[in-house]
Amino acid sequence: MATTKSYAAHSATTPLEPWTFERRNLKPTDVQMDILFCGVCHSDLHYARNEWGMTTYPIVPGHEIVGKITAVGSAVTKHKVGDYAGIGCLVDSCRQCDNCKQDQEQYCTNGFVGTYGGMEKDGSGPTHGGYSKNILCHEDFVLHISDKLDLAATAPLLCAGITTYSPLRHWKVGPGMKVGILGLGGLGHMGVKFAVSMGAEVTMLSHTPGKKADAERLGAHKFVLTSDSEQVKSVGGYFDFILDTVSAQHDYNMYLSMLRTNGVMVCVGVPPAPIPVHSMSLIFGRHTLAGSLIGGIAETQEMLDFCAEHNIVSDIEMIRMDQINEAYERLLTGDVRYRFVIDMDSL
Ligand code: NAP
Ligand code: ZN
Ligand code: ZN
Repeated sequence: MATTKSYAAHSATTPLEPWTFERRNLKPTDVQMDILFCGVCHSDLHYARNEWGMTTYPIVPGHEIVGKITAVGSAVTKHKVGDYAGIGCLVDSCRQCDNCKQDQEQYCTNGFVGTYGGMEKDGSGPTHGGYSKNILCHEDFVLHISDKLDLAATAPLLCAGITTYSPLRHWKVGPGMKVGILGLGGLGHMGVKFAVSMGAEVTMLSHTPGKKADAERLGAHKFVLTSDSEQVKSVGGYFDFILDTVSAQHDYNMYLSMLRTNGVMVCVGVPPAPIPVHSMSLIFGRHTLAGSLIGGIAETQEMLDFCAEHNIVSDIEMIRMDQINEAYERLLTGDVRYRFVIDMDSL
C-alpha cells in the first residue's frame, strides 16, 4: 500500500482540503505513476458538490492525469518505468461485454470503473483521482504520450480532448460541414480546435461577448453571441452538427432550431437538472438530439496521436493545488482560459 497525499471533498458544501489515504497494492498487470499535472474538469466540480446525486465522500477528483511511471507489475508489457503516461476517466471495465470487445469501455454494459468515485473490480475499495501524488491502474488503461507534446497542456486531452474528439469522429465531421461548438470552456475550446483541424466550417456559439477574439484565435470561422436574438436568428436552420458543451441549464430547443434538415445536436455537457425538449424541435427538419460519453481507450490513444501529429494541446492556466477551491468558483462564472491544470509539485 502506498500512502498518498491528496486534496479531497468531504461533503457537497465544504471546500476541498488536504487528505491522506492508502492506494491499493500494485498488481502484476498494474502501472504506477507519480502525477505531474492534473487538469480540472467541470465534472470534478459537479461531482465534488454532488450535483448529479451520486457522490460518496470523501472524494478525490481529477481525471486528466499526466505523470511519470515509477513502477510496473511483473506482467506489464506495454509500459516501462521512466515513461511519461496518461490516465483519463476510466481505470477498468469488464473486458468481456460487446462494447468492451469493440474498444468502447466507456459504454461497458457491466459498468466501467471511473478514475474517481468508482469501485475497484476486486472489491479493494473506492477509486481516487488525480488531485493526488500518485496513482495506479491496469496497464490497458494507461495512455502513451508523445514527447512532442507539452506535458501540462496535454493533461486536459485525457477528458476534454477525447470527449470532443469522439463525437466529431463518430458523426464524421469533415470538410463541407457547418459545425457549431456551443460553450467556450475546457471542452468547447478543444472542440473548436478539433473541428477546425478536421476541415469543417466552425462557428463558436457563446454567451460571453468577451470570448470572440479567443474563438477566432482558436480557429473558429464565425462567432455567434447566443444572448443576442438577431445573431441567433442569423444561424436558424444553418448547422449540420452542433456539439453542446454547456455545463449549466440552457434551452435545447433554441439550439435545435439552428440545425438544418437532418442536422444532429450532440450533448456532452451535463447540466445538473433535466431540460425539456419539445418534439416539434425534432420533428420539423428531422433533427437528431444525441449524447456522447468520453471515448474508449483505443480512441483516446488515437486522439493523443492525432494531437501529436497536428500539434494540438489545450490552452491552460497553471494553478497550485491550494488554489483549487478558487478555481472552482471561477469555473462557475466562465472565467477560465481555457483549462486549469494543477501543478502537482505544489501538493
Ligand atoms: P467549463 O470549462 O466550465 O465550460 C462550460 C462552458 O459552458 C462555459 O465556458 C460557458 O461558455 C458555458 N456556460 C456556462 N454557463 C452557461 C450558461 N448559464 N448559459 C450558457 N452557457 C454557459 O466546463 P467543461 O469542463 O468544459 O465541461 C462542460 C460540461 O461537460 C460539464 O457539464 C461537464 O460535466 C461535462 N463533461 C461531459 C463529459 C462527457 O463525457 N459527456 C466529459 C467531460 C465533461 P461560454 O462562456 O462560451 O458561453
Ligand atoms: Zn472530465
Ligand atoms: Zn464491459
